[in-house]
Amino acid sequence: MAQGDRLYDCYNPPAQEFVRGEGVYLYTENDDKYLDFIAGIAVSSLGHNHPALVETVRIQADKLWHLSNMFRIQSQYELAEKYCDCLLWAGKVFFTNSGAEAIECAIKTARRYHHDNGDPGKYEIITFTGAFHGRTFATINAGGNPKYLKGFGPVIPGFTHLEFGDHDALQETISDKTAAVLVEPVQGEGGLRPIPEVCLKGLRKLCDRHGALLIYDEVQCGAGRTGKFFAHQWADRDAEPDIMAAAKGIGGGFPLGACIAREEIAKVMVAGTHGSTYGGNPLATAVGCTIFDIISQPEFLDSVTKTSNFLKQQFEGLKDQFPDVIAEIRGKGLLIGMKLKKPAVDVRALALEKRLVAGSAGDNVLRMAPPLIIDETHVREAVGILTECFESAQEMEDFSL
Ligand SMILES: *Cc1c(COP(=O)(O)O)cnc(C)c1O
Repeated sequence: MAQGDRLYDCYNPPAQEFVRGEGVYLYTENDDKYLDFIAGIAVSSLGHNHPALVETVRIQADKLWHLSNMFRIQSQYELAEKYCDCLLWAGKVFFTNSGAEAIECAIKTARRYHHDNGDPGKYEIITFTGAFHGRTFATINAGGNPKYLKGFGPVIPGFTHLEFGDHDALQETISDKTAAVLVEPVQGEGGLRPIPEVCLKGLRKLCDRHGALLIYDEVQCGAGRTGKFFAHQWADRDAEPDIMAAAKGIGGGFPLGACIAREEIAKVMVAGTHGSTYGGNPLATAVGCTIFDIISQPEFLDSVTKTSNFLKQQFEGLKDQFPDVIAEIRGKGLLIGMKLKKPAVDVRALALEKRLVAGSAGDNVLRMAPPLIIDETHVREAVGILTECFESAQEMEDFSL
């Protein structure tokens, strides 16, 4: 059998095989060097082989790997304290291993909250087209993407999907049956679409009017990616959620997720209502603490904003230079993409040949989510490679929507 034949065919990786990473670069066995502008899809927030993270893992690995949540885990208390200090609305945290599990916990918390408040019929979750919340049963039903639901049996009732940005549909649909509205402040998989701050505030007001909870999925846009520790912090306190899911970048490559909720809401999740064997294990939460301490520094976040402004300006320049290839620059901070007029997956493959690792997203978007430690030199290097790619892409057939 060929290599990979023993794996599910859910992924189709390219021939390049990376064996080592250093900062913003990945290396193959032959030491070919690639500029990493996707960071394992917004995960390796501090790049590869970061000395502080390696040290944290080494120290913890020498002490204790795992206990299960049957026992006290000091680094969980510390990390939960850090998140709640950073988010004034937040009161309690449940740690998970992944984004999907953090969303599962958020959905369970919202429904249980209404149930315990004497309103068990209030279970409907509203989401929007282009949403992505993970690949478990609850989260594919929450996301509502027909491609991800197909062939997996009956859809789970209790999820309603509305057109992204359709305010009227939302006003008409939200009701006393609505448990929560679930949104990504910046849509990732759906094509890097940020929700304007004014809309987040409107959403908050609308939820309040109907006694619905507001849940943010910051799995991709959190962890400093937009220049705030969490993306919704760009809006002022009028857009704070009731529950939030985080993962990806908060673990920097170590599997870690978190469901963070207001105290009075989280309180309903008492012993026996939820659990996880690994969630928040000592290794994961030790890494989470080190990452939080680095990314939450104001100077670090300022440098993300500075670099992302430069990146955006350079990308807008590329758009002017290649109007036949690039339709629009999208995203926020270092979660940035280009909606293309040529097939994004082909341009992505072209970039990989030229040793730039990028991603793609829905709506024919070339997606980039580089490590947050990139500087202007890396941006220039990426722009140089992309320029060559777009020169070739001009010859490609147009992408039909
Ligand atoms: C990746 C992602 C998830 C799912 O996270 P996993 O760790 O893959 O389960 C959920 N929501 C958003 C916005 C994501 O980008």
